[in-house]
Amino acid sequence: MENQSSKKAELLLHICCIGCGAYVGKMLDEEFSVSLFFYNPNIYPEIEYKKRLEEIERIAKHLSLPLYLGAYEHRSWLESVRGHETDKEKGERCLICYRERLRETAKMAQEKKIGFFSTTLTISPHKDARAISGIGSDLSLKYNVKFLDRDFKKQDGFKKSVALSHDLGLYRQNYCGCEFSRR
Ligand code: SF4
Repeated sequence: MENQSSKKAELLLHICCIGCGAYVGKMLDEEFSVSLFFYNPNIYPEIEYKKRLEEIERIAKHLSLPLYLGAYEHRSWLESVRGHETDKEKGERCLICYRERLRETAKMAQEKKIGFFSTTLTISPHKDARAISGIGSDLSLKYNVKFLDRDFKKQDGFKKSVALSHDLGLYRQNYCGCEFSRR
């Protein structure tokens, strides 16, 4: 009998923390053959980056999802947002940050010949889902990879991700990621 999973399209899912990644990854795995991509040079300090990564490695194994890692280049990320340190969340600094992470995801999907890319970022009530949608569509054209444009916070997505984190005993941080979001 033919393996059903071989019929699913492949999707590279950018994740920034396991709390959201586990819920979205598990949900999308019913539709797609999902691989996770952890690329978050925005996270500060490095110890926090390592903590999120360790949790992601643990749960990727638990859910049997392949995991790709991007480079952790926080200094270069700081350069990219220079001048926007005091912007409010959802402001220009965040738009640069979304674009940078989505760009690497689209590039990685293209390199690995994965047909779709997406991100868990839209699950957060603190993120601008409309802006993420625009950036994803733009990069889709640029890298010739389809963007799965979903606002994962719909249908109580955020609440459900919190509940799943609780069930699996996952670490959930109390700030977005960069030093400016810790204030
Ligand atoms: S608040 Fe979050 S999305 Fe905005 S720049 Fe910082 S890490 Fe990136």
